[in-house]
Amino acid sequence: MILNKILEQAHALMKKAVHEGGAVIDGTCGNGHDTLFLSNLVGNDGHVYAFDIQEQAVENTRARLKEHEVLERATVIHDSHTHIEKHLQEEHKGMIQAAIYNLGYLPGSDKSIITKPNDTITSIQNVLKSLKKGGLVVLVVYHGHPGGKEEKEAVLRYVSSLDHKNYEVLNYSFINKDRTPPFIIAIEKNV
Ligand code: SAM
Repeated sequence: MILNKILEQAHALMKKAVHEGGAVIDGTCGNGHDTLFLSNLVGNDGHVYAFDIQEQAVENTRARLKEHEVLERATVIHDSHTHIEKHLQEEHKGMIQAAIYNLGYLPGSDKSIITKPNDTITSIQNVLKSLKKGGLVVLVVYHGHPGGKEEKEAVLRYVSSLDHKNYEVLNYSFINKDRTPPFIIAIEKNV
């Protein structure tokens, strides 16, 4: 297939933005799939900051990184992504190459623990400040669960309001699927 599935599309975008030795963020690490992907992109000299509010997610992510022998490339943090700024090393502030978020709930876990509109928007606002020029934020928006529609609408409203002189904002979605297929919002910072 030529058109990537949505997660592959998100990873293809991250690949373009992330270079070896860079610092990046996984705002919702869950079971650590994106954290592992990012750890491989940044290499031995780079760093991944991964966040989740669920202890189990933090443990699962650490275990996945350990299994692939890249645990030292990441700091896996049991905290909300609204507090990203306070966990960044001084040298990485304003130098973040990219951030990824998978919105929604963690598959196979408690479906009532979901990303929330206000926290997600606060986190994006903070991450945009920490991003270097040319940096990228990728949001994979799952919205079929209770609360998902409200978050989708709030996030779309917020990113649509970003000043076009400072940010390019793109929405990738499959438009011929029924129900509520996930989609991508990509924000590139050009200042
Ligand atoms: N990328 C993950 C993976 O590879 O498995 C899947 C992420 S899952 C769709 C969403 C995750 O966001 C859940 O693990 C949930 O605990 C987490 N989450 C919800 N609110 C959060 C917050 N305020 N800060 C950080 N993580 C949060």
